[in-house]
Amino acid sequence: MSHVEITVDRAKCEGLGMCEAMAHEFFEVQDDGTMVVLDEHPADEHRQTVAAAVDACPVLALTLKG
Ligand code: SF4
Repeated sequence: MSHVEITVDRAKCEGLGMCEAMAHEFFEVQDDGTMVVLDEHPADEHRQTVAAAVDACPVLALTLKG
């Protein structure tokens, strides 16, 4: 089964949480504002969900590969 890969530019991420709002299964903003990617290699079936979250990031900190 193929997967996609989520990468985060930590220098850009401001912990705004739009990614979490779009796909809470994959992104979680901690109390201190650090965003954690819960699954960096989602299965291909989640591509659209993850892509929507990537597109929602206002500072373009997220990239989707694969
Ligand atoms: S939407 Fe962008 S800035 Fe906000 S937590 Fe997610 S990656 Fe970080």
